[in-house]
Parts: sequence; structure tokens; C-alpha cells
Amino acid sequence: MTGIDAAYRNYIDGAWVPGGAGHIDVTDPGSGAHLTRVALADAADVDRAVEAAARVHASRALAALRPVERGRMVRAVGAWIAAHRNTWAPVLTREQGKPLWEAEIEIDGAARYFEYYGNQAETVEGRSIPLGDGYIDYTTCEPYGVTAHIIPWNYPVEMAARSVAAALATGNTVVIKSPELTPVAITMIAHAAQAAGFPPGAVNLLCGLGPVAGAALAGHPKVNQIVFTGSVATGIAIATAAAQNVVPCVLELGGKSAAIVHDDADLDAFETDIRWGIFFNAGQVCSAMSRIVVHESRHDEVVERATAIARALSVGPGIERRESGPNMGAMVSQAQRDRAAGMVARAVAAGAKLATGGHALNLPGAFMEPTVLTGVTPDMEIAQQEVFGPVLSVIPFRTEDEAIAIANGTDYGLVGGVFTRDLDRAMRATRAMRAGQVFVNEWFAGGVETPFGGIGKSGYGREKGREALWNYVQTRNTAIKLR
Ligand code: ADP
Repeated sequence: MTGIDAAYRNYIDGAWVPGGAGHIDVTDPGSGAHLTRVALADAADVDRAVEAAARVHASRALAALRPVERGRMVRAVGAWIAAHRNTWAPVLTREQGKPLWEAEIEIDGAARYFEYYGNQAETVEGRSIPLGDGYIDYTTCEPYGVTAHIIPWNYPVEMAARSVAAALATGNTVVIKSPELTPVAITMIAHAAQAAGFPPGAVNLLCGLGPVAGAALAGHPKVNQIVFTGSVATGIAIATAAAQNVVPCVLELGGKSAAIVHDDADLDAFETDIRWGIFFNAGQVCSAMSRIVVHESRHDEVVERATAIARALSVGPGIERRESGPNMGAMVSQAQRDRAAGMVARAVAAGAKLATGGHALNLPGAFMEPTVLTGVTPDMEIAQQEVFGPVLSVIPFRTEDEAIAIANGTDYGLVGGVFTRDLDRAMRATRAMRAGQVFVNEWFAGGVETPFGGIGKSGYGREKGREALWNYVQTRNTAIKLR
């Protein structure tokens, strides 16, 4: 238990406070043991946090700053996170299950968001619109006010950083609802905001149950903008609540993303894409490469390579997997693991074949074998629904049109990939794929700088990149009549 306190509090209006709903127990999915307790917010706590954020917004303490000053504060949050990475990465590993080196990558990624959006703060500019000599007209980008950030458990620190950094850089105040399963390491964002000098109430963080605290936050009349990453069903509930208050949302709702692998693809290089695309974070990644749609002439070779990669992964407690390498940690919870294993069992019952894996590991905790399925047809549940686990489905195709149709044939549309040496073929796919982001010859190519978001049931709005800044500002037009 080294480095993990017996209990953690919520951060509301500049104070670390207990929760009106008591506490929630957090389990280490790498061992199945109790890890710690976290204060559980009720609707009254949510109300206090929103009121504090609304007060700070009304005071213009952030909005009135010269953007360079605000940007420096945002960057200071990132610097604090980077400086405390080694303290918090083991905590993230213990609550989430990922190997220690993956936790370090996540925390570095969180720091990077604050660096990037801190740098962007002074790039947010309006324009002047000519109306003839009798007028001066210009636009300004005004912060919405109180922004709500409802965070998932797969990358709690990084997902919170992604939206909070952009919201603060543009002068908004923030209320974060942390995920029930992983509410501990995310508290480093509140510590960092405190250390960086954000006034009490500018950044609030609370853990609470989704249907209680999450719903209270999404439906709060003083929340002016909502960012949500999570399941489709919860996204719909949040968007519905937001609509009642006429509040905009950014929704990032997952995917069933496909890599199209043509007959001329470089399969040596593609092995890296398999490794990262479906087994990073035990597949609990919304933009995971959960389907490979491969030309029939390379099908067996791809299955062989994927199987070898899956079998080479050493699966066990993340805290014992400190170095980057062929290893994988626990899934976040036994419930998530059982859900994934259940989907695999149903796929097999429907006619899919296990090339490798497919079962829960007989270890304490929440471990799942890295899994590769063949004989998957595009209409099966496993090909249509997000597993959110280390489960890869391989589907053969004959023609390019058929490949695109399979890739596009789900309700989702988050990311997609095409692997080929033929530029024309790649470009045709980039135009045809129904996805917010298309990778050519490298899954996950891009970074904090590149916009990310979905089409269809994968959601709407874009995070990352300069695009995300526009989620947090509204244009005001000012027209001046001259005499
Ligand atoms: P999962 O079911 O995989 O945990 P969710 O989409 O339900 O994914 O959860 C993502 C986030 O949304 C979590 O912080 C959760 O507490 C929150 N949440 C769940 N239900 C609601 C709801 N009805 N209103 C607002 N937030 C919710």
C-alpha cells in the first residue's frame, strides 16, 4: 500500500472536503484487494462546486486575465503534474490496472495537454468586420462560464487534462466528475491547479455516482457547457439533460474502429499497430483497433502474427510491470472483464473461432487473456459492439469496396486506418471511411495537436488540437456606430 492514503477527499471551492454521500471503496484490479476510499459527492456537493465555479466566473478572475498570464498558469498545472509523475503513476496503476510504464505515459500525456493548451491561450483571437466608415465591428471569444467534465475510468488523468486544459486556457471555470472506479490519481489535477495558483472555486473535483452526482452536474442550471467521454447510453442521458438547459455538449462515445489491411501492406510494420492498437491499456481505449479487415490473401498471415503478439504478452499485475515491453495489466474491474469474456463467448457460440485467448485468467484481480478471433462476420455482435477489452476480431475481404463497407458498417465512426503502399488506394479510403480521424500506415498517428472526435454514435465535437478551443468559447459581436 506504499504511497496510497487510506482515504481521499473531494476538492470543492478550494477545500478538500468529505462527501455528502459518504465514501466509495476503490479496488485494485491487479490483486482484487481493497485499495482505498474516496469521498462520494451527493447533489448538494455538486451544487456547492457549481456555485463556486459560477462565482469565480462572474468575478472574471480568469476571464479578465491577459491570455499569456492564463496560459502560464495552465502550463504550471502541467509542470506540476510532470514533476509529480513518479509519485502518482503507481497510484494510477493500482486503481486502474495498467502497467506502471503505461501509467507514466498517461501522466506525461496529461502534462502535455496543459503545456499545449497553455501555449494556445494567447492564440484565441476574434476578427474585425468592415461595415464602412460609420462603424467599427469586431468579434471576441467569450468563455462559456462553468464547464462540466464527466470523466471515464480508462484514462482518468489524461481525459480530465484534455478538456480541463482547453477550458481553463480559454478562461472558463471547471467542475470535474471523476469516475467511480478510478477516482484517485485524477486528484492530482486539483492539487496541480491549487499549486499553480488558480483561485478557490476555479477548479473543482468530485467523485460521485454517475446517476447521482453525474446526473446532478449534467442537469445543473448553472453549468454552461459539458464535456463527456463514455458510453453511448450515458452520452444520450447527458445530452438530454443538457438540452433541457440549452447547454452545448462535446460527446466522445467510443467506437468499433477498423484497420483495412490491403494485400500490399507492410506486415512487419503492422505488427506494431496490432501491439498498440488493441492491447494497449488492455484494449480499454475508445479508439482501439478492435477490427482488422484484411485482404483474403493476407488473412492467415495477419492472424498468425496477431496470435504471436497476443501470446507473447506477459499478463499480470501492472505494478510488477514497470518497464515498457510485451506486457499487459488488468482490466479495470471484474465486471468489465466478465463483460468482455461474455462477448467473446457469445461470438464463439455464433460461429467465430478463437485463434488465441478468449477467457478470464485464473488470477486474483481482473485479468483477461489477449484474444484474437477469426471467422467473425460483420453482422455479429462482436463486430458491431465495443468490447472495451483486449479482443481483436479479424474479418477477411475480397474487394476494396467490400472492405470499406465492412469498416463503415457499424453505428460508430470514431477512427479508422488503412494499410497499403498504394497512395491512391490509401487516399480513396481516407475519403470513404466514416470516421473522425483516419490513420494511414500507422494506428494512433497524431498527438495532442491533432483533432479527435467521432461521427455517428461515436459522438460529436472535437477534442485535442486547436479545434477543441472552440468548444469553450462563444463569439460575441460588438458593433460600434461612429459619429
Ligand atoms: P461505464 O459504464 O463504462 O462506466 P459510463 O459512460 O457510464 O461508462 O461512465 C462514464 C462517466 O459518466 C463516469 O464518470 C460515470 O460516473 C458518469 N455517468 C454515468 N451515468 C451518468 C449519468 N446518468 N449522468 C451523468 N454522468 C453519468
